[in-house]
Amino acid sequence: MTPEPTPVVERVLALAGTLSDTAVREVSVALVRGTVSRQSLREWVVGLGIAPSLFPTGNPELAPTIVDGVTTALSQFGIACVVGGERIQMALDVSKGGWSNLTFPMGKASVDDDFYLYVAERAPAAFEARDADEAREHRVLGGLLGIPDCCSAFFSQVWPAASKRQGDLVPYSCAMTADLPYPWDFRTNVAAQYFGVAPISFFPCSFRCEAAAAVGAVAYEAAQHVSDPSFSHRLANARGTAILYTERHGIAAWRVDKPEEVAFPGRAHPLRLTSDESRLSQLLRRTERLEVRSPHDLVLYTRTDQEQLEGPDVALCVF
Ligand SMILES: [Zn+2]
Repeated sequence: MTPEPTPVVERVLALAGTLSDTAVREVSVALVRGTVSRQSLREWVVGLGIAPSLFPTGNPELAPTIVDGVTTALSQFGIACVVGGERIQMALDVSKGGWSNLTFPMGKASVDDDFYLYVAERAPAAFEARDADEAREHRVLGGLLGIPDCCSAFFSQVWPAASKRQGDLVPYSCAMTADLPYPWDFRTNVAAQYFGVAPISFFPCSFRCEAAAAVGAVAYEAAQHVSDPSFSHRLANARGTAILYTERHGIAAWRVDKPEEVAFPGRAHPLRLTSDESRLSQLLRRTERLEVRSPHDLVLYTRTDQEQLEGPDVALCVF
Protein backbone atom coordinates (compact mmCIF):
# COMPACT_ATOMS: atom_id res chain seq x y z
CA MET A 1 0.00 0.00 0.00
CA THR A 2 1.27 3.47 -0.84
CA PRO A 3 1.68 5.65 2.23
CA GLU A 4 -0.36 8.82 2.50
CA PRO A 5 1.62 11.94 1.64
CA THR A 6 3.14 13.56 4.70
CA PRO A 7 2.52 17.27 5.32
CA VAL A 8 6.03 17.90 3.98
CA VAL A 9 5.19 16.27 0.69
CA GLU A 10 1.96 18.18 0.41
CA ARG A 11 3.92 21.39 0.67
CA VAL A 12 6.41 20.30 -1.95
CA LEU A 13 3.57 19.39 -4.22
CA ALA A 14 2.22 22.89 -3.73
CA LEU A 15 5.29 23.95 -5.73
CA ALA A 16 3.95 22.18 -8.81
CA GLY A 17 3.91 24.65 -11.65
CA THR A 18 6.90 26.46 -10.16
CA LEU A 19 9.44 23.67 -10.25
CA SER A 20 9.56 21.40 -13.27
CA ASP A 21 7.29 18.36 -13.28
CA THR A 22 10.33 16.13 -13.04
CA ALA A 23 11.56 17.88 -9.91
CA VAL A 24 8.14 17.70 -8.28
CA ARG A 25 7.89 13.99 -9.08
CA GLU A 26 11.40 13.35 -7.87
CA VAL A 27 11.15 15.21 -4.59
CA SER A 28 7.70 13.99 -3.64
CA VAL A 29 8.63 10.36 -4.33
CA ALA A 30 11.83 10.72 -2.30
CA LEU A 31 10.02 12.19 0.69
CA VAL A 32 7.19 9.65 0.61
CA ARG A 33 9.71 6.80 0.51
CA GLY A 34 12.22 8.35 2.92
CA THR A 35 14.98 8.41 0.31
CA VAL A 36 17.10 11.16 -1.25
CA SER A 37 16.49 13.16 -4.41
CA ARG A 38 19.31 14.51 -6.53
CA GLN A 39 18.30 17.60 -8.43
CA SER A 40 19.91 20.46 -10.25
CA LEU A 41 20.61 23.45 -8.00
CA ARG A 42 19.68 25.74 -10.87
CA GLU A 43 16.23 24.20 -10.88
CA TRP A 44 15.63 25.14 -7.26
CA VAL A 45 17.14 28.60 -7.59
CA VAL A 46 14.86 29.43 -10.51
CA GLY A 47 11.83 27.57 -9.12
CA LEU A 48 12.01 29.22 -5.72
CA GLY A 49 12.74 32.60 -7.26
CA ILE A 50 16.01 33.06 -5.37
CA ALA A 51 18.15 35.70 -6.98
CA PRO A 52 18.23 34.01 -10.39
CA SER A 53 20.51 36.77 -11.64
CA LEU A 54 23.22 35.43 -9.33
CA PHE A 55 23.14 32.09 -11.07
CA PRO A 56 24.86 30.93 -13.18
CA THR A 57 27.78 32.36 -11.30
CA GLY A 58 30.33 32.53 -14.06
CA ASN A 59 32.64 32.34 -11.12
CA PRO A 60 34.81 29.48 -9.90
CA GLU A 61 33.12 29.56 -6.50
CA LEU A 62 29.49 28.86 -5.81
CA ALA A 63 28.15 32.07 -4.29
CA PRO A 64 27.32 31.43 -0.60
CA THR A 65 24.25 33.68 -0.88
CA ILE A 66 22.69 31.24 -3.33
CA VAL A 67 23.32 28.24 -1.11
CA ASP A 68 21.96 30.10 1.90
CA GLY A 69 18.90 31.19 -0.04
CA VAL A 70 18.03 27.69 -1.19
CA THR A 71 18.81 26.07 2.17
CA THR A 72 16.66 28.58 4.03
CA ALA A 73 13.78 28.33 1.58
CA LEU A 74 13.76 24.54 1.66
CA SER A 75 14.03 24.38 5.44
CA GLN A 76 10.73 26.28 5.54
CA PHE A 77 9.27 23.24 3.79
CA GLY A 78 10.94 20.92 6.27
CA ILE A 79 13.39 19.70 3.64
CA ALA A 80 17.08 19.26 4.33
CA CYS A 81 19.52 19.86 1.50
CA VAL A 82 23.20 19.67 0.71
CA VAL A 83 24.88 21.22 -2.30
CA GLY A 84 27.39 19.09 -4.17
CA GLY A 85 31.02 20.10 -4.15
CA GLU A 86 31.53 19.52 -7.88
CA ARG A 87 30.53 21.75 -10.73
CA ILE A 88 28.62 19.83 -13.37
CA GLN A 89 27.52 20.47 -16.89
CA MET A 90 25.10 18.44 -18.94
CA ALA A 91 26.59 17.05 -22.13
CA LEU A 92 24.81 18.24 -25.25
CA ASP A 93 22.54 15.55 -26.59
CA VAL A 94 22.21 14.47 -30.19
CA SER A 95 18.59 14.59 -31.46
CA LYS A 96 17.02 13.93 -28.07
CA GLY A 97 15.29 17.25 -27.60
CA GLY A 98 17.62 18.58 -24.95
CA TRP A 99 17.57 15.57 -22.71
CA SER A 100 20.92 14.10 -21.75
CA ASN A 101 22.10 11.68 -19.14
CA LEU A 102 25.76 12.57 -19.39
CA THR A 103 27.29 15.15 -17.12
CA PHE A 104 30.86 16.19 -16.95
CA PRO A 105 32.50 17.30 -13.73
CA MET A 106 33.88 20.65 -14.88
CA GLY A 107 37.47 21.60 -14.50
CA LYS A 108 36.71 25.27 -14.93
CA ALA A 109 33.60 27.38 -14.48
CA SER A 110 31.44 28.49 -17.35
CA VAL A 111 28.08 30.21 -17.64
CA ASP A 112 26.41 26.83 -17.96
CA ASP A 113 27.77 25.47 -14.71
CA ASP A 114 25.41 23.79 -12.34
CA PHE A 115 25.62 21.82 -9.13
CA TYR A 116 23.69 18.91 -7.74
CA LEU A 117 21.47 19.50 -4.76
CA TYR A 118 20.73 16.48 -2.58
CA VAL A 119 17.42 16.83 -0.73
CA ALA A 120 15.90 14.58 1.88
CA GLU A 121 13.75 14.79 4.93
CA ARG A 122 16.84 14.32 7.07
CA ALA A 123 20.20 16.00 6.54
CA PRO A 124 22.44 12.96 7.25
CA ALA A 125 20.91 11.09 4.30
CA ALA A 126 21.54 14.05 2.00
CA PHE A 127 25.19 14.27 3.12
CA GLU A 128 25.62 10.54 2.65
CA ALA A 129 24.24 10.73 -0.90
CA ARG A 130 26.54 13.59 -1.82
CA ASP A 131 29.58 11.74 -0.48
CA ALA A 132 28.67 8.52 -2.28
CA ASP A 133 28.07 10.39 -5.54
CA GLU A 134 31.36 12.23 -5.43
CA ALA A 135 33.20 9.01 -4.51
CA ARG A 136 31.53 7.40 -7.59
CA GLU A 137 30.00 4.72 -5.40
CA HIS A 138 27.09 4.02 -7.76
CA ARG A 139 25.52 1.22 -5.80
CA VAL A 140 25.57 3.11 -2.49
CA LEU A 141 24.15 6.22 -4.15
CA GLY A 142 21.51 4.10 -5.89
CA GLY A 143 20.34 2.72 -2.55
CA LEU A 144 20.10 6.21 -1.04
CA LEU A 145 18.16 7.46 -4.06
CA GLY A 146 15.72 4.58 -3.60
CA ILE A 147 16.67 2.80 -6.81
CA PRO A 148 15.86 -0.93 -6.48
CA ASP A 149 18.90 -3.20 -6.14
CA CYS A 150 18.14 -5.09 -9.34
CA CYS A 151 18.00 -1.86 -11.36
CA SER A 152 21.09 -0.49 -9.64
CA ALA A 153 23.03 -3.66 -10.51
CA PHE A 154 21.78 -3.39 -14.09
CA PHE A 155 23.03 0.20 -14.27
CA SER A 156 26.50 -0.73 -13.01
CA GLN A 157 26.67 -3.50 -15.56
CA VAL A 158 25.81 -1.51 -18.68
CA TRP A 159 27.03 1.97 -17.76
CA PRO A 160 30.61 1.40 -19.02
CA ALA A 161 29.17 0.75 -22.49
CA ALA A 162 26.35 3.31 -22.36
CA SER A 163 28.58 6.12 -21.14
CA LYS A 164 30.68 5.84 -24.30
CA ARG A 165 27.52 6.76 -26.21
CA GLN A 166 24.86 9.19 -24.91
CA GLY A 167 24.58 7.65 -21.46
CA ASP A 168 21.06 6.53 -22.20
CA LEU A 169 19.99 3.08 -20.99
CA VAL A 170 16.57 2.95 -22.64
CA PRO A 171 17.75 0.57 -25.39
CA TYR A 172 19.35 -1.65 -22.74
CA SER A 173 16.16 -1.74 -20.62
CA CYS A 174 14.32 -2.53 -23.84
CA ALA A 175 16.67 -5.40 -24.63
CA MET A 176 15.97 -6.86 -21.18
CA THR A 177 12.23 -6.80 -21.93
CA ALA A 178 12.27 -7.66 -25.62
CA ASP A 179 10.98 -11.22 -25.18
CA LEU A 180 7.87 -10.07 -23.32
CA PRO A 181 4.73 -9.01 -25.17
CA TYR A 182 3.49 -5.42 -25.24
CA PRO A 183 2.27 -3.51 -23.35
CA TRP A 184 5.06 -3.17 -20.82
CA ASP A 185 4.45 -1.72 -17.35
CA PHE A 186 3.75 1.99 -17.82
CA ARG A 187 4.89 2.66 -14.25
CA THR A 188 8.44 1.86 -15.43
CA ASN A 189 8.22 4.13 -18.48
CA VAL A 190 11.35 6.21 -17.99
CA ALA A 191 11.32 6.93 -21.75
CA ALA A 192 8.35 9.24 -21.17
CA GLN A 193 10.88 11.82 -20.01
CA TYR A 194 11.62 12.85 -23.60
CA PHE A 195 8.05 14.08 -23.96
CA GLY A 196 7.06 15.22 -20.48
CA VAL A 197 7.27 13.65 -17.09
CA ALA A 198 8.13 9.99 -16.43
CA PRO A 199 6.95 7.96 -13.42
CA ILE A 200 10.54 7.00 -12.52
CA SER A 201 13.87 8.73 -12.92
CA PHE A 202 16.16 5.70 -13.17
CA PHE A 203 16.58 3.06 -15.83
CA PRO A 204 14.73 -0.12 -14.88
CA CYS A 205 16.43 -3.51 -15.23
CA SER A 206 13.39 -4.39 -17.34
CA PHE A 207 10.22 -2.54 -18.32
CA ARG A 208 8.43 -5.27 -16.38
CA CYS A 209 10.52 -4.88 -13.21
CA GLU A 210 8.10 -5.02 -10.28
CA ALA A 211 10.39 -3.12 -7.92
CA ALA A 212 10.71 -0.28 -10.44
CA ALA A 213 6.94 -0.31 -10.98
CA ALA A 214 6.42 0.08 -7.22
CA VAL A 215 8.48 3.29 -7.31
CA GLY A 216 6.52 4.52 -10.33
CA ALA A 217 3.29 3.82 -8.46
CA VAL A 218 4.34 6.32 -5.76
CA ALA A 219 4.60 9.04 -8.44
CA TYR A 220 1.04 8.32 -9.56
CA GLU A 221 -0.10 8.39 -5.96
CA ALA A 222 1.64 11.74 -5.43
CA ALA A 223 0.07 13.10 -8.63
CA GLN A 224 -3.36 12.64 -7.12
CA HIS A 225 -2.44 15.25 -4.54
CA VAL A 226 -1.09 17.82 -6.97
CA SER A 227 -3.40 20.72 -7.52
CA ASP A 228 -1.85 21.55 -10.89
CA PRO A 229 -3.88 19.35 -13.27
CA SER A 230 -1.30 19.55 -16.04
CA PHE A 231 1.14 17.60 -13.85
CA SER A 232 -1.12 14.59 -13.49
CA HIS A 233 -2.13 14.90 -17.13
CA ARG A 234 1.47 14.77 -18.36
CA LEU A 235 2.24 11.86 -16.05
CA ALA A 236 -0.80 10.01 -17.42
CA ASN A 237 0.80 10.26 -20.87
CA ALA A 238 3.31 7.58 -19.87
CA ARG A 239 0.53 5.04 -20.36
CA GLY A 240 -0.95 4.03 -23.72
CA THR A 241 2.06 5.25 -25.64
CA ALA A 242 4.57 3.87 -28.11
CA ILE A 243 8.07 5.34 -27.98
CA LEU A 244 10.44 4.66 -30.82
CA TYR A 245 13.97 5.31 -29.65
CA THR A 246 17.00 5.67 -31.88
CA GLU A 247 20.41 6.49 -30.51
CA ARG A 248 21.30 9.35 -32.83
CA HIS A 249 18.38 9.94 -35.22
CA GLY A 250 15.74 11.22 -32.84
CA ILE A 251 12.94 9.74 -30.74
CA ALA A 252 9.26 9.54 -31.69
CA ALA A 253 6.15 8.92 -29.62
CA TRP A 254 2.51 8.38 -30.41
CA ARG A 255 -0.59 7.36 -28.49
CA VAL A 256 -1.77 3.78 -28.93
CA ASP A 257 -5.32 2.64 -28.32
CA LYS A 258 -4.44 -1.06 -28.44
CA PRO A 259 -0.83 -1.51 -27.31
CA GLU A 260 -0.73 -5.17 -28.31
CA GLU A 261 -1.23 -4.15 -31.96
CA VAL A 262 1.10 -1.12 -32.10
CA ALA A 263 -0.66 0.50 -35.03
CA PHE A 264 1.24 3.30 -36.67
CA PRO A 265 -0.04 6.76 -35.70
CA GLY A 266 -3.03 7.84 -37.70
CA ARG A 267 -4.60 11.28 -37.93
CA ALA A 268 -6.19 10.83 -34.49
CA HIS A 269 -2.82 10.34 -32.80
CA PRO A 270 -0.20 12.63 -34.25
CA LEU A 271 3.49 11.87 -34.00
CA ARG A 272 5.61 13.64 -31.44
CA LEU A 273 9.29 13.98 -32.24
CA THR A 274 12.33 15.16 -30.32
CA SER A 275 13.89 16.44 -33.51
CA ASP A 276 12.06 17.65 -36.61
CA GLU A 277 15.20 17.58 -38.70
CA SER A 278 16.25 14.03 -37.94
CA ARG A 279 16.41 11.25 -40.46
CA LEU A 280 13.87 9.35 -38.36
CA SER A 281 11.31 12.15 -38.54
CA GLN A 282 11.63 12.36 -42.31
CA LEU A 283 11.12 8.63 -42.63
CA LEU A 284 8.22 8.49 -40.18
CA ARG A 285 6.37 11.27 -41.98
CA ARG A 286 6.31 9.09 -45.09
CA THR A 287 5.47 5.88 -43.25
CA GLU A 288 2.05 4.33 -43.72
CA ARG A 289 2.48 1.01 -41.99
CA LEU A 290 4.74 -0.47 -39.36
CA GLU A 291 5.78 -4.08 -38.97
CA VAL A 292 7.27 -5.03 -35.60
CA ARG A 293 9.50 -8.09 -35.96
CA SER A 294 10.96 -7.45 -32.51
CA PRO A 295 11.41 -4.30 -30.40
CA HIS A 296 14.81 -3.95 -32.09
CA ASP A 297 13.74 -4.87 -35.61
CA LEU A 298 11.12 -2.83 -37.43
CA VAL A 299 10.06 -2.46 -41.04
CA LEU A 300 8.54 0.86 -42.05
CA TYR A 301 6.48 0.87 -45.22
CA THR A 302 6.00 4.07 -47.18
CA ARG A 303 3.76 4.43 -50.23
CA THR A 304 6.56 3.39 -52.57
CA ASP A 305 9.24 1.83 -50.48
CA GLN A 306 10.18 0.10 -47.27
CA GLU A 307 12.99 0.59 -44.81
CA GLN A 308 14.27 -1.63 -42.05
CA LEU A 309 15.25 -0.11 -38.72
CA GLU A 310 17.20 -2.73 -36.87
CA GLY A 311 19.88 -3.25 -34.26
CA PRO A 312 20.64 -2.37 -30.64
CA ASP A 313 20.37 1.38 -31.35
CA VAL A 314 16.68 0.98 -32.22
CA ALA A 315 14.14 0.29 -29.46
CA LEU A 316 10.37 0.33 -29.76
CA CYS A 317 8.88 0.50 -26.26
CA VAL A 318 5.11 0.24 -25.86
CA PHE A 319 3.38 0.89 -22.55
ZN1 LIG B 1 14.76 -3.82 -11.40
